[in-house]
Amino acid sequence: MKDFILKITQSKWNYYLSLATDCLTGIVFLVLAIHYSNDIWGSVALFVVGVIFFTFLEYAVHAWLFHLDHPLKVFIEGHAHHHQNPFSYDAMPFFMSAVIASFFAWVLHFFMPLGDAFALVGGLALGYFNYGIMHHIMHRREFASKYWRYMQEFHFVHHKKPKMNHGVTTDIWDRVFGTYYQWTQDDLKGIEKLKRIKKKS
Ligand SMILES: [Zn+2]
Ligand SMILES: [Zn+2]
Repeated sequence: MKDFILKITQSKWNYYLSLATDCLTGIVFLVLAIHYSNDIWGSVALFVVGVIFFTFLEYAVHAWLFHLDHPLKVFIEGHAHHHQNPFSYDAMPFFMSAVIASFFAWVLHFFMPLGDAFALVGGLALGYFNYGIMHHIMHRREFASKYWRYMQEFHFVHHKKPKMNHGVTTDIWDRVFGTYYQWTQDDLKGIEKLKRIKKKS
């Protein structure tokens, strides 16, 4: 069973399909939020809360589910595969973001109006898509922006020091939880292996 799951979660078709379904899930939930909302600015605020809260989930899952030792080895091994091969196609099965988002919205609608639940989950889903696409591009593209280079180095240092710098879209939670590591030029040696930059011809 574990081998079957790993086979799907490491396949190229699942990886690209996931990026598409993650984006689509976020958009569908936003459309639903606009349709069902009784208080559009309240829903916009909850959407922003969703995006921000996702950055915390990104940290929590990466630091505590992927990099701590526990019995759910499939998460640890699946993620270790990305550390060994930064260009592998590791992703959750493509339908999982839609399933998880629907489950969250179902639970939340007991506590808040349906439009707000869709807005909050839409923010989480688009935060997740932003994480996926940023991580994908980080290993494959160079940009002149200082911020981009900083985030790229921040993540590449995590590949070399897996207990530090777990954030991908922000470094804030590493600073909060004491896992921020300020790298030196020495730490950046060998990071070229983590990039597969297509040269323009
Ligand atoms: Zn990476
Ligand atoms: Zn990691």
